[in-house]
Amino acid sequence: MKELQSFGWYAARVAPHLPKKAFSPAPERLWGGLAYLLVVVSGILTISLTDFNIWINTAISIILGTSFAAMGFLGHEILHGTVVRKAWLRELTGGIAFFPLSTGPKLWVKWHNMTHHRHTQDEEKDPDAWPTIEQFSKAKILKPFYRLPLSVRGFLGMAFLAITFTMHSMRMFKRFIKEFNPEKRLSVWMQLLVPWATWIGLLVLIGPLKWTFAFLIPLLIANFIVMAYIATNHRLNPLVPVNDPLANSLTVTVPKWVDVLHFNFSYHTEHHLFPGMSSKYYPLVKEELKKRWPERYHEMPMPQALAALYKTPRLYSNQVELVDPVGGDVYGTLGHGLDPAHVKPKETAPAEESSSSAMVNK
Ligand SMILES: [Zn+2]
Ligand SMILES: [Zn+2]
Repeated sequence: MKELQSFGWYAARVAPHLPKKAFSPAPERLWGGLAYLLVVVSGILTISLTDFNIWINTAISIILGTSFAAMGFLGHEILHGTVVRKAWLRELTGGIAFFPLSTGPKLWVKWHNMTHHRHTQDEEKDPDAWPTIEQFSKAKILKPFYRLPLSVRGFLGMAFLAITFTMHSMRMFKRFIKEFNPEKRLSVWMQLLVPWATWIGLLVLIGPLKWTFAFLIPLLIANFIVMAYIATNHRLNPLVPVNDPLANSLTVTVPKWVDVLHFNFSYHTEHHLFPGMSSKYYPLVKEELKKRWPERYHEMPMPQALAALYKTPRLYSNQVELVDPVGGDVYGTLGHGLDPAHVKPKETAPAEESSSSAMVNK
C-alpha cells in the first residue's frame, strides 16, 4: 500500500467527498488583497512623508514585511486561477500581488505552476528541489560553505532565508527567459523591470535611510516568511520518481490567525493535490487525507519543521537520504527514518562515508 501514486490518483479519490463550491473560484479573496495593498501604500507613504522616527518606522517595516509576504501568498493563489478566471485579470491582480517581491506573473506561472507543480521533487526537473551529492560535486562555489560545521551552516542557512526568495527569483528569470517565445519576452522583461524601477525610484525620491525602512527591511522580512514555508514544504521530504504529494510534500501547522493572515498557505500537501482549488477549502481536503492515508500524510508545527531543516544537511545522497559532505553523516527524510522530534544521523557504512567526504575535498 506504500507505493507512490500521482496527485491525480489521490485527487480522484478525494474530490467526490468535497462540496461542489470548492471547485469554483473564490473572488472574495481579493478583498484581503485590497486590505494588504492599502496597508502597504499607507505604510510607505507614512515613512516617506513624515519625519523619521526609528521606533515608529521599525514597527511600520514589520507590518510592511508581513504584508509583502501575505500579498505573495495571495498572488500565488491568483496565478493558479483560484480567485478570478479571466486570464488578463488574473495576470493583472497577480502582478500587483507579487509587485513587492518583484516577481513577474508570467515568470511565476512558468517556474511554479508549469515546472515546480508538474515535477515536484524530481531531482532533475524541479527548480525548487535541493541538489544531490552528484550535482553538488560539480558546483565548486558551494564547497567552502559545506566545510563549515553543520550547526554554523544551519544558522547561516536560516539567515540566508532572508534573501533567498529574491535571489532564487532572479535565478529563475535567468533560467526561464530563454524558454519564452520572442514576442512574449519583452513583457516578461517589463514585469521584472517595472517593479525594480519603482523601488529604485523610491530610493532616489526618499533617500537611503527612509528607503531601508520602507522597502529593504520589509523585503528581508517577507523573504524570510515566504521561505520559511517554501523551504519546509518539500525539503525534509524525499526526492521521488513519481510526483506523489503525500510522499514529497509537508503540511506545516501554524496558529489559526496566521493561517488567516497567510491565506492558508501552510496546507501545502493539499495544495499539490488541488492546485486549482482555493486554499479556503484545504482544511476539508486535509480531513479527507488524514482519514484515508494517515500513515502517508506528513504534518508538523512550523517551528519543528524549521528546527529539523536547521539540523539536517541540505544535500541528498540518494532519493531518500540526506548526507553531510563533511564527515559523511547520513540522515533520513520524512517517511524514510527522519524523526523531526529527534533529528540524528543514521549509522553509516564506512564506504559511503569516505566517498561523500572525498567529494568535498576534490
Ligand atoms: Zn510546492
Ligand atoms: Zn502552487
